[in-house]
Amino acid sequence: MPDCVFCKIGSRELQAMVVYEDPDFIAFRDINPMAPVHVLIIPKAHYDSLEEFQAQDANLLGRMMLAATHIARQERVAERGYRLILNVGSEGGQAVRHLHVHLIGGRQLQWPPG
Ligand code: 5GP
Ligand code: ZN
Repeated sequence: MPDCVFCKIGSRELQAMVVYEDPDFIAFRDINPMAPVHVLIIPKAHYDSLEEFQAQDANLLGRMMLAATHIARQERVAERGYRLILNVGSEGGQAVRHLHVHLIGGRQLQWPPG
């Protein structure tokens, strides 16, 4: 997607604090962190949101979750606990229209979310 900020981070056209990369995913620190650890994990391929996923994408989604657990260990929050958040659509709080998972941790998180 030509004007997608996260596609541009994925292709390294725009800079970000990258903490993990493999052929399918890139993860980088959120520009406006909500907690000591706030990383966004995205597929390099553009999907507007989770609503675009089909059965054939199930493997990609599963591997994105595994990448998240890897990053949680790398960021040293795996043992204390952390939260993965996937906002979908406007009422779900999704501002950037390129699917992303938030990995948040490093402090006690509250529940329920707003
Ligand atoms: P959403 O509300 O769509 O689930 O979350 C989008 C997140 O992306 C927000 O937490 C926002 O701070 C972050 N973000 C938006 N633009 C950029 C950017 O250019 N670079 C980085 N690193 N984070 C961004
Ligand atoms: Zn994109």
